[in-house]
Amino acid sequence: MPKPRYIFLAGGVMSGVGKGVATASIGCILKSKGFKVTALKIDPYINVDAGTMNPIEHGEIFVTDDGAECDQDIGNYERFLEEEMSSDNYLTTGRVYQAVINKERNLEYGGRCVEVVPDIPNEVIFRIKKVAKKTRADFVLIEIGGTVGEYQNLLFLEAARMMKLKNPRDVIFVLISYLPIPEKIGEMKTKPTQTAARLLNEAGIQPDIILGRASVPLDEPRKRKISIFCNITKEDIISAPDVDFIYEIPLNFEKENLGNRILKKFGLRTKKQNLRDWKRLVGSIKKSKKPVKIGIVGKYFATGKFTLVDSYISVIEAVKHASWALKRKPEIYWLDAEKYEKSPQKLKELKNYNGIIIPGGFGKRGIEGKIKTVSFCRRNKIPFLGLCLGMQLAVIEFARNVANLKKANSSEFDPKSPYLVIDVMPEQKALLKEKRYGGTMRLGAYKCEIKKGTKSWQAYKKNIVFERHRHRYEFNNDFREILEKKGLVISGINPERNLVEIIELKNHPYFVASQFHPEFKSRPLHPHPLFKEFIASAIKKK
Ligand code: GLN
Repeated sequence: MPKPRYIFLAGGVMSGVGKGVATASIGCILKSKGFKVTALKIDPYINVDAGTMNPIEHGEIFVTDDGAECDQDIGNYERFLEEEMSSDNYLTTGRVYQAVINKERNLEYGGRCVEVVPDIPNEVIFRIKKVAKKTRADFVLIEIGGTVGEYQNLLFLEAARMMKLKNPRDVIFVLISYLPIPEKIGEMKTKPTQTAARLLNEAGIQPDIILGRASVPLDEPRKRKISIFCNITKEDIISAPDVDFIYEIPLNFEKENLGNRILKKFGLRTKKQNLRDWKRLVGSIKKSKKPVKIGIVGKYFATGKFTLVDSYISVIEAVKHASWALKRKPEIYWLDAEKYEKSPQKLKELKNYNGIIIPGGFGKRGIEGKIKTVSFCRRNKIPFLGLCLGMQLAVIEFARNVANLKKANSSEFDPKSPYLVIDVMPEQKALLKEKRYGGTMRLGAYKCEIKKGTKSWQAYKKNIVFERHRHRYEFNNDFREILEKKGLVISGINPERNLVEIIELKNHPYFVASQFHPEFKSRPLHPHPLFKEFIASAIKKK
């Protein structure tokens, strides 16, 4: 059993500066030095998991193999570490309190008074150590969500402080702080970083390393200032400048020797370093000049592009991974489904793209526009990839327009439809009736058997795959025979429950849609087969 070391990461006074990718990048570096690494995200809100949160507000809900509905940073960890995360890698205030209260109810505290301090931090520590043990990691990265000085994350900082007190040589702290360059002043300001370090000090924590997030690398005078005011040597202040591609970040950090600085703090050393694959990846990203234009048709548009990018981060990354692997520059366009609902003549513009994706989603808004999109792609032979909701709508479109089942629908959108080709499973019906929404969808990895001779098989070249789910509704098997007779190809089946997992069409360059979310398993170094085949056919489209 290796002796685990713990690296806590906390954010300065500003959030949203890329703490997740920074954490993941540190993991990537340590892994490249031959260590086993895992990462844990702590979110300071009361929600037990991210499943009940609105993606517009919170960003994508990432799903692990074991069905945890997590913060999108877990996706970053998987992409940079190429390690599978599980529900143990994600912690919220709600989950911690729930566990403590359950233990109290089960008399596990031996009748004593259970208190916020130390019982909550102790539970946090218990969970951090559990991850270390389970994964047999040399390093556990613990990213504390929110910003320092916030009331909400104090108990997590307290846990970190207690761990350091007990084993000072096994714990370090990294502060990730933003250094603004106000336009009118034109100079990089270190004060917010000084304040952040002071706030950490107040919580009894001295940062060992400071990552300076800014639009450009930190210069000498800035480093000198931070060094003096934050009580840290200059070598431990690492620049984290803006990048064009997040996968450059590990390489950037290594330019300032971050990996070895970390090892030194733990009294460790290695000559090993293998970021070759990442260097090659970044090289080919930069060389990919010829564009492949992908349209994503969704409904979340009123809120602006920024939130959108966050809501579908895994889909976007999966498109990028596949495009780069095929030496193309991905260009992603957001297309509003409601526009096609109101003015179907605008569907023509879909011809301007090399391929169209309909991603996952919930609720009725924009549904008919998306169905029109499917129809247009089917008839005009535009490469099409449907993801979860996208697959359900592809089935509805086929039922209506090819199998002539007029008004076919999903019980999510029109429970009175005469042809519920997509319907809720009986066990889901019971859950909905009792309003038990949290953590009750069909979640996590399920087996899928791929049918030989199909596009899906051509992509996977495997008989069995495991893919991740997050949905309540399913293909209704009552309609299987009739739809298959009309030409719908069912190319993936869950054998245990005989559920339709992938559908596709013949006589079309690429029309594939899956009930699961392949995007969750795409990695920069290993693009997902369904995305890769999709992009390959998109490239061929005239
Ligand atoms: N709303 C659909 C369902 O719950 C699809 C969900 C999704 O796309 N993730 O089945």
